[in-house]
Amino acid sequence: MIELKQLTKTYGNKKKATTALSGLNLTVKKGEIFGVIGHSGAGKSTLIRCINLLERPTEGEVWVGGVELTKLKRRELQQQRRKIGMIFQHFNLLSSATVYDNIAFPLKLMGVPKLQIAAKVNELLELVGLTQHQKKYPAQLSGGQKQRVGIARALASDPDVLLCDEATSALDPQTTDSILNLLLEINRKFHLTILLITHEMHVIQRICDRVAVIHQGGIVEEGPVTEVFLKP
Ligand code: ADP
Ligand code: ADP
Repeated sequence: MIELKQLTKTYGNKKKATTALSGLNLTVKKGEIFGVIGHSGAGKSTLIRCINLLERPTEGEVWVGGVELTKLKRRELQQQRRKIGMIFQHFNLLSSATVYDNIAFPLKLMGVPKLQIAAKVNELLELVGLTQHQKKYPAQLSGGQKQRVGIARALASDPDVLLCDEATSALDPQTTDSILNLLLEINRKFHLTILLITHEMHVIQRICDRVAVIHQGGIVEEGPVTEVFLKP
């Protein structure tokens, strides 16, 4: 579902350059929950942002659902991005919009008719358990509730892939558990492919099928979670 080939990302210019990713290869299969773990500065954030081209790779190929994204024109890229949802550590919600409107936002941008938007948003509110809170603003919500809004918004365009950028790092352990349970449920229900990055081992052990360890911009180890972490 996701294939990264020889992915390289260099920030800065010739005088002062930082190589965040160097020739990284990674394959994530359809329907799996794949975790990338590594220390701060290892390149996790750059990696996940390259998958939807929030960050332009310097070199290499990004394949999602059989389409290579780096060579697409603007319009085609916009279309393909609908297949890729993303959630963030700090939720990135619109503070002046209600829960309902935050979830509806991507559908409005896509020009979906209002009745269809309402049906979809209500379905998503139900899924993430926020029907009762749909008229509230982000500031009135707990961290876990905010992330539920983030998840609902990410699912609005029926993506094939969900990217999670340190999605539970700002949450307490109990809330983290409930969000990870929700991600598991969504993965099972929709056969959604999930790629998450984290610096927390327990997140990987809790929900991931396979894991890759990233170090200095490259994958240094990869395999099923039980094999990578339970070696003698
Ligand atoms: P992680 O998410 O694992 O902490 P990052 O992808 O954020 O790693 O960073 C990898 C490397 O790239 C680090 O050395 C970081 O300083 C550098 N880096 C990240 N973003 C930028 C940027 N916008 N400009 C310059 N350097 C950056
Ligand atoms: P605007 O054009 O001002 O962005 P709309 O004209 O789309 O807003 O009006 C729809 C409004 O109905 C939304 O702003 C939303 O707050 C409100 N609303 C709340 N709950 C629902 C719901 N379950 N179904 C439809 N609309 C809802």
